[in-house]
Order: sequence, then structure tokens, then C-alpha cells
Amino acid sequence: MERRKFIKNSGLGSAAILGGSLAAACAEKDTAEKAGENTESIKPIVIATWDVPNATASAFDVLTREGNSLDAVEQGVMVEEADVANQSVGKGGRPDRDGNVTLDACIMDKDSRCGAVVYLQNIVHAVSVARKVMEETPHVMLAGEGARQFAVEMGFEEVDLLTEKSKQEWLEWKKTSQYEPVINIENHDTIGMLAIDSNGDIAGACTTSGMAYKMAGRVGDSPIIGAGLFVDNEIGGATATGMGEEVVRTVGSFLIVELMRQGKTPQQACEEGVKRIIAKKENYKDIQIGFIAINKAGETGAYCIHPGFSYRKYTGEGHENIPAASYIKS
Ligand code: ASP
Repeated sequence: MERRKFIKNSGLGSAAILGGSLAAACAEKDTAEKAGENTESIKPIVIATWDVPNATASAFDVLTREGNSLDAVEQGVMVEEADVANQSVGKGGRPDRDGNVTLDACIMDKDSRCGAVVYLQNIVHAVSVARKVMEETPHVMLAGEGARQFAVEMGFEEVDLLTEKSKQEWLEWKKTSQYEPVINIENHDTIGMLAIDSNGDIAGACTTSGMAYKMAGRVGDSPIIGAGLFVDNEIGGATATGMGEEVVRTVGSFLIVELMRQGKTPQQACEEGVKRIIAKKENYKDIQIGFIAINKAGETGAYCIHPGFSYRKYTGEGHENIPAASYIKS
């Protein structure tokens, strides 16, 4: 793809990126310039939790066609929502303990506008309903039956989300009904995606069917702005996968963006986000948490508790699956 360059809107260059820590940002810019890096150029980039090449390719395709980051993240995660082989998202997602597939999703744009749906049933593209909540209502979040009704009014088709495979697995689970979250389940849990477009604007989306065999009515971190996803166009974005209750308790994605605001790299911020959870969770070895983050300069980072989490990165230079460093080494 043609590598496009653009000048950031702000005359402050990377100082504007880090907002609160102006001095640190200036020092960093000096160092980068001495090292010969062009701090005035940013290229479009997409990252997503887990190894989801089709999703990131779809999002990057939107960016390549001069699309904006909001369209890119929506289109990108929709690929996984429609893929019945992904049993953690959209159609084919694992049901709750009563056999109902319930979806949670949110989306956030460069202007800090956001929308979310929780406990949504019978609609494949929860992320698109979340976007409609953002664009067509005065609200941020719609739940359950109200969210479903709104989706139908907006023209979304109703479908049965429970596939035969997920149904059979649920029936098998019901024989013991032991609720035990499985770490790195199927290697493609919640899909959180962050993108920067050719204007340098950041958007993010997050979508999930939640923890398999959860209690009826349970909602995790994924649709909660600040927990499962947060974007601040001045700074960067972060998104999470794993045990949502712990991400909510620490407002994980907001925390990571704030740490970047204070001058941490995306990698350092993700590590601190995971460590905050570990500090408050005695049995942290029983759970998995994974964060990914991106800053305004297009630098990325990821960190998790257990090995096994990775993220997909798509830039004009290539498409790679990057294993995240983990707190527990093996
Ligand atoms: N974070 C999701 C939730 O708690 C689940 C996951 O990512 O595995 O609903």
C-alpha cells in the first residue's frame, strides 16, 4: 500500500501527544530526532486482541481506502461477529448457563463519543448497534430487551445466535454445571480493536459474547467504556480481554490511557495495568487478563498474566501476530 504521511494538526509535535507531561515529551522528541526518526509522520495502523488476521485485514482495508478509524474498527470486529468459528463473539458465541447467547459491545471515536449495548440477544452485529446508540440516541448504553428493540427499529435482522456446536458444548457443560473460566479459551476471546487513520485520528471497538456459561444477566468489562475500551484522541487507546470483573474493578483501559498521558509507553502502561490487577487479586494465577494499547504516535504494546495471549498488528509494512509478554513466564 502507498505509505501516506501527514503532518499532525498540532504545531507542538509529539509534545501534544503526551499532554500532561510536556517536558518528558519534548525530551523524547529530541531523542527521537537525534536518532533520525521523523516524528512528524504517522501511518495508518490497526491492532486487535488475539490472532484475528481477517478482522485486522478488513479494518486496514478501510484505512487504505481513506476510510476513517471509526469505520475501520467497526468493519474489523464485524468480521469476527459474523464468524461462527469464533465462539467468544457474535453468532456462534458460547451461551450463558441457561443456553442464551447474550452479546456486549462498545465503540468510541476520536471525539470521545461512545455507544454500547449489553445483554443484547438475537442480533449478530452488536458493535453496529452500539454505533447506532452513539449516533442515533442521546444515550451511551442500551441493555437487554430495550437494546434488541432498538436494533430491530434500526433495521437489524433478528437471528438465532446459538449454533449447533455451541449448543452441544453447553449441553455437555450442563452435565456438571461447573463454572470455571478457561484461560485462553480457543485463543480468540473478546475482540478489542484500535485503529489510527490517515488523519491521525484514533477509534476503538470491543465486542464479546462474554464468559462462557456466565450467570443470566451477567455483563463483563467489554461494553463498559473505561474498562473494556477507552480512547482519548490526544493520547491513545487501550482495550482488554480476559476476566472482565477484574478489568472493571481497576477501570483497566482508562487507567492505561491515563498512564500513557503521564508519559508511559503503551508497553509500560499495559504492564502497569496488569500489575494493578495482580496486586488486588490473590488468586491471579487462576485468571487471564490481556491488554493492548496504542499511542498517538502509533507505538503499540501488550501484556497479560499467562502466556498464550497475542495481538494482531496491521500496518503498511506488514501484518503480524505478536505474542504478548506475560507476568507469569510459563
Ligand atoms: N472480557 C470478557 C468478559 O469478561 C471475556 C473475555 O475476554 O474472555 O466478558
